[in-house]
Amino acid sequence: MIELRTPAEIDEMRAAGRFVAETLATLRDETGVGTNLLAIDRRAHELIRRAGAESCYIDYAPSFGRGPFGKVICTSVNDAVLHGLPHDYTLRDGDLVTLDFAVSVDGWVADSAVSFVVGTPRDEDLALIETTERALDAAIAAAVVGNRIGDISATIGDIAHAAGYTVNLDFGGHGVGRTMHGDPHVANDGRAGRGFPLRAGLVLALEPWFLATTDELVTDPDGWTLRSADGSRGAHSEHTVAITDDGPIILTDRTFLGVG
Ligand code: MG
Ligand code: MG
Repeated sequence: MIELRTPAEIDEMRAAGRFVAETLATLRDETGVGTNLLAIDRRAHELIRRAGAESCYIDYAPSFGRGPFGKVICTSVNDAVLHGLPHDYTLRDGDLVTLDFAVSVDGWVADSAVSFVVGTPRDEDLALIETTERALDAAIAAAVVGNRIGDISATIGDIAHAAGYTVNLDFGGHGVGRTMHGDPHVANDGRAGRGFPLRAGLVLALEPWFLATTDELVTDPDGWTLRSADGSRGAHSEHTVAITDDGPIILTDRTFLGVG
């Protein structure tokens, strides 16, 4: 069921969005060569406790995972791109890291992800990250009343294809509200002019993610972490966005913190 939020409810969602934005900015800032993935999770847990927020991940146990997740952040490195279960791994020079974080504050969820390289980046990794960020920006620009879900999907897919990437349709964006995942699904490719008409009050997590040279995923023995089937690297950019009559509001925007 697709739910629409009132302007007052969207205002209430700002606290969750701001906390997720601040936390991702902090964690990104503190993560570098030599950081252990378990330390990132511990730090995220500490920030959640301090804020009185509630993790959407720790008890998460969907049909596709080996639940419960047991950690509060997804840390996906290099050929891992989604649902990376934090484990005992110390980041090395040139690693491509994705942090994906969702919490509930005052009963409202926000969900956001960022990819970056620690140490010396490879050009192809920067291009992959830049493409997901550009696709996310364009998807947000398409999240306006009068468009349809398919317009967002087509916008993301067009940017991926133009950059030479293929698109996996198994995981994509979704409605966000009292829980992390709601209707509608927002595929990262599709046909313009199709699907649910966008209305004021619709709150969506938009999340383009691409792999360098495949669109196939394999699951790690941990039952969660999704890796590219061919070992190529992946990147992921996500924001929680409210569609309003005055245009999209990026609830998890980090730019006010002076970081991307
Ligand atoms: Mg997410
Ligand atoms: Mg999401």
